[in-house]
Amino acid sequence: MEKQLEKVLSDRINSLSESQTLAMTGLARELKAQGKNIISLSIGEPDFDTPDFIKDAAKKAIDDNFTHYSPVPGYPELRQAICTKLKRDNNLDYSPNDIVVSTGAKHSLANLAITILNPGDEVIIPAPYWVSYLDMVKIAEAKPVIVNTSIETDFKVTATQLKNAITEKTRMLWFSSPCNPSGSVYTKEEIEEIAQLIKNYPNIIIVSDEIYEHISFTGKHESIAQFDFIKDQVVTVNGVSKGFAMTGWRLGFIAAPKWIADGCNKMQGQFTSGTCSITQKAAQVAFEADPIVLKDMQTAFKNRRDLVLSLMAEIPGLKLNEPKGAFYVFPDVSSYFGKSYNGQVINNATDLSMFILNEGLVALVTGEAFGDPNCIRLSYAASEEVLTEAIKRIKDTLALLK
Ligand code: PMP
Ligand code: GLU
Repeated sequence: MEKQLEKVLSDRINSLSESQTLAMTGLARELKAQGKNIISLSIGEPDFDTPDFIKDAAKKAIDDNFTHYSPVPGYPELRQAICTKLKRDNNLDYSPNDIVVSTGAKHSLANLAITILNPGDEVIIPAPYWVSYLDMVKIAEAKPVIVNTSIETDFKVTATQLKNAITEKTRMLWFSSPCNPSGSVYTKEEIEEIAQLIKNYPNIIIVSDEIYEHISFTGKHESIAQFDFIKDQVVTVNGVSKGFAMTGWRLGFIAAPKWIADGCNKMQGQFTSGTCSITQKAAQVAFEADPIVLKDMQTAFKNRRDLVLSLMAEIPGLKLNEPKGAFYVFPDVSSYFGKSYNGQVINNATDLSMFILNEGLVALVTGEAFGDPNCIRLSYAASEEVLTEAIKRIKDTLALLK
């Protein structure tokens, strides 16, 4: 008898979308492998190499035989280094028991979703949001409640908008500052207003994703946990991927009220255990270092932002905010919707990103992935030369549309 194999995945996985940042990057890689001269500005990752002092610590960790399982939430010395960093850079008081180190900030966020949410809980997510927030909430069988912002308000959500979205089922608020994809950075006053609102709802946990802390052009980074009256409702998420150019090393962390850290620790103990022992030793010296070591990378990002904004200002029909952090621009491209080239009609940002990929050989990500279908995301984590060529190609390609 012929074998009948039922290829049925769980409803949970079937309800998930593929990460569109990773999908576009994969497509760009494939086209490059076919010999096409693609410029990929789709993924958000620094093009810089990890600083040498961090690489040296990793080499030493191997020689010192840090090759065994580590404690699930991370080595105590690493968690202490994170507490010292949080005090030094953010004026936050935490003890190592409040810290859980994971395999990237992405993993930290996934732990939080599974650890805190029950089916039917609501999670407020201001749009545009980072692509994976939505699906992480969905996998926890909770309901994302999207609050739209617009370019007119620099893509920032207000306390009044949040108030209108809160119901008795609201359990969490997730946001990032600096924001991926808009580059917006909330001021201390704006964050305090949000904190003042949420303190009236003791069941709501704020997830403050601060992975772009070190890529900010506004001066001092502001953490929402700095306000003592809200700290017991805040989880700060951070890591080494962006600031220290360590995307491949995979290390992120949460600083949280202990009951939440304990929950994430339990979750992680069953699913993944402690993250890579060698990466932990490397990250420890990164957190211990004076952030001044990142100055050159920060200056390069700011120069690139300025270059990209000035070049994009020359493209007709784009509306741009001025990003204050992260390394993305997120232009509103809706004036191109309805236009066409050779019978190909551009109906939305996804069509436009595919058109720019196929005709202009530049990979960008549709704003639909980030909850804003009028926009498109360009990562400027590339050299000025590459960015100049990419934007020229985008300009020439858009000019084809009539
Ligand atoms: N949060 C945001 C806003 C991001 O852009 C990213 C992208 N990497 C992450 C979290 C995840 O970072 P990590 O590489 O540490 O998993
Ligand atoms: N956070 C990056 C981005 O937005 C990396 C890709 C990902 O992890 O989704 O492109």
